[in-house]
Amino acid sequence: MAIFMSFGISFVPSKAGTQGCIDMSSAAHFAGGCLCGHIRYEATAQPVSAGYCHCRMCQRSSGAPAQVWAQFPIEFFRYTTAEPEVYKSSSWGERRFCPQCGSQLEFRLQKDPATVDLNVPTLDDPGAVQPSTHIWTKDQLPWFETTDDLPRHSDEGEAD
Ligand SMILES: [Zn+2]
Ligand SMILES: [Zn+2]
Repeated sequence: MAIFMSFGISFVPSKAGTQGCIDMSSAAHFAGGCLCGHIRYEATAQPVSAGYCHCRMCQRSSGAPAQVWAQFPIEFFRYTTAEPEVYKSSSWGERRFCPQCGSQLEFRLQKDPATVDLNVPTLDDPGAVQPSTHIWTKDQLPWFETTDDLPRHSDEGEAD
């Protein structure tokens, strides 16, 4: 039985200089923002990857046992209301957060400027993104476990 998906007529204009073709994934739309609503964002592509990060920096910066991230091409991501503050959390990365409520929204890896790792729980519909891996499980808390068979990497794993 054929399944017909209905796509709304939506055209995502590509930025000048964008190379390559725009496939159906460009019709994707993910929106989210901080706790107080000051900072809102949108991503108009499917995530490249998504997973749990158990590293100590994600634990400290989120105040949670792990951070769930989804990596998007940065050319399909933008802030729609205001710009967040930037915190350089290490020599290799930055984290952005709302200056009013402190919600941490994303991580950018210096060596990979073409992508942004959004913190999935800040999406309006966090369930729309499915984690597919665990990284930095060497820092995983002994009382925190998830019921899945996803690959587990003690370090950054295969992620570029
Ligand atoms: Zn806020
Ligand atoms: Zn981490």
